[in-house]
Amino acid sequence: MASGNQRMKKKMENPPRSMLRHVLVVSLALNVSFILRIMLYQTQQTHHKSPFSISSSSSTATRRRSLVNSTRSDRPPDKERLINLDHGDPRMYERYWRKRGEKTSITIAGWESMSYFSQGENICWFMEPELAEEVVRLHNLVGNAVTQGRHIVVGTGSSQLFLAALYALSPTHHSHQPITVVSALPYYSSYPSMTDYQKSGLYKWGGDAETYDDEKDGPYIELVTSPNNPDGYTRESVVKNKRQGLFIHDLAYYWPQYTPISYPSDHDLTLFTLSKATGHSGTRIGWALVKDSVVAKKMTKFIELNTIGVSKDSQLRAAKILEAVSDSCEEEESFFKYSYEIMAHRWRKLRAAVEGNALFTLPNFSPAFCNFFNHYTQPQPAFLWLKCEGLIEDCASFLRQHKILSRSGERFGVSPKYVRISMLDTDENFMEFIERLSSIHL
Ligand code: PMP
Repeated sequence: MASGNQRMKKKMENPPRSMLRHVLVVSLALNVSFILRIMLYQTQQTHHKSPFSISSSSSTATRRRSLVNSTRSDRPPDKERLINLDHGDPRMYERYWRKRGEKTSITIAGWESMSYFSQGENICWFMEPELAEEVVRLHNLVGNAVTQGRHIVVGTGSSQLFLAALYALSPTHHSHQPITVVSALPYYSSYPSMTDYQKSGLYKWGGDAETYDDEKDGPYIELVTSPNNPDGYTRESVVKNKRQGLFIHDLAYYWPQYTPISYPSDHDLTLFTLSKATGHSGTRIGWALVKDSVVAKKMTKFIELNTIGVSKDSQLRAAKILEAVSDSCEEEESFFKYSYEIMAHRWRKLRAAVEGNALFTLPNFSPAFCNFFNHYTQPQPAFLWLKCEGLIEDCASFLRQHKILSRSGERFGVSPKYVRISMLDTDENFMEFIERLSSIHL
């Protein structure tokens, strides 16, 4: 009688047909699952690669940044998704800068830019000379600001410069009451809170500039934003009797993609920001052009007390970006031409979407000659200032029901029938917004 072991050995040498079939089926299943896994892996790789074009030499950090910063959102569009157009985050520029690639990259070695101080002659002792040069070069090229006889003060965004300017313009003698800060309605929603959040003894928010009369109400600082955030209109100071007025001109949007450049601005204190000029809001660089050296020194002092200067790394990056913009003006891939065309396309889509719809009113603008483009252009603001008509009293809540997040007119000192909507978001969000807007009817 054969032992159990021998039986087993025999069985292994001459397996029955049914067992062979089993082995074949299992092996086939394993192979198919393996092939499917490989296919899935490859699809994921190409999916990550194609929209964001990461070169094989990219570091993991670059790859991670690219994915996070993509102009496309990670999720497919769906009707339930909330589209957040409350902030003016300039995502639409990313595509341009991605295309410019290495030309706009900088490398800063570990030993570079370590000092608090910069080498330049500027009153603003922490300003990198490269940045000062590129600021002047770009303004001269675009023709949007007089730079001759101006001191440049760099800030961590124009937000810091706004506070520095309030500090520098306020009377400091202890017998003085806080000076009143005003701006015409509708004003940039951050002005009131930025002015009052520290309860300064130097200045205080006073609201609408139209109703301010300095003969009655005393000295004041007027904030003139042109083109205006939120409504996009060109502005001048509006206070009656301007005898005791000091002015801060916030020209964040005075660039050719948003408005015709009709003249070089020539004010006492003007603020510009990289955030809206080129879209690099994360770099946090703004600059002020200041006529009076005493005011420039005081603004510099404020920044010294506040942050002991401004990031050198950011300044060098900003200088590189501005250089690239100026260089591009002579090339086919002109930054302003590109951004102007996107804005024009978006405004056309927007007007077509609400045309004939009695629910909404958009602002109307007149074309003007643009010295930069050398032809007539239309204003095409960075924000849509939308009015809900008829019985809709709270436009922001109404749009919220359609999953569109906007900023209520109340934040800008006016009626909630108005909302501000960013025109600078990703293509995907903008197109989804247009689709939703055109589907809203009475
Ligand atoms: N002023 C205006 C009119 C703005 O719209 C903004 C940005 N929303 C700022 C200033 C602040 O810009 P920054 O990012 O340079 O602080």
